[in-house]
Amino acid sequence: MTPVDPTMPYDDQNIFAKILRGELPCTKVYEDEWAFAFEDIHPQAPEHILVLPKGAYVSWDDFSARASAEEIAGFVRAIGKIARDKGLVEPGYRAIANVGPDSGQLVPHLHVHICGGRPLGALVPA
Ligand code: 5GP
Repeated sequence: MTPVDPTMPYDDQNIFAKILRGELPCTKVYEDEWAFAFEDIHPQAPEHILVLPKGAYVSWDDFSARASAEEIAGFVRAIGKIARDKGLVEPGYRAIANVGPDSGQLVPHLHVHICGGRPLGALVPA
């Protein structure tokens, strides 16, 4: 997959758009009015969940610039609820949004990775 150009317009044929529309399968973890979450296909930790806003946003940058206050609140609350429901608050977890080529973002629909279930090590590998 090619790294995401964060300035590109939203492509409604990206794989996460297809998962959101039910055109591709996933192991669903959570859904509400604002967010949809499923297990990462290549988990990097015992818990590795991807949380997507329902709206069409390329990245965290796009979302933070264009989303409504309701969308932002709903999405952030969903991330917190999923982590609580999974019992990750007490042991700890990490929430990560990759933006653009240096981050390694591969899929051009905003997704926050929730990783936990083991000590996660350095924030940024050397
Ligand atoms: P990014 O690098 O864009 O932040 O992360 C993309 C993530 O999506 C990766 O962790 C990758 O394993 C996951 N992924 C890519 N394609 C699929 C898919 O078709 N299904 C699921 N469940 N995860 C995917």
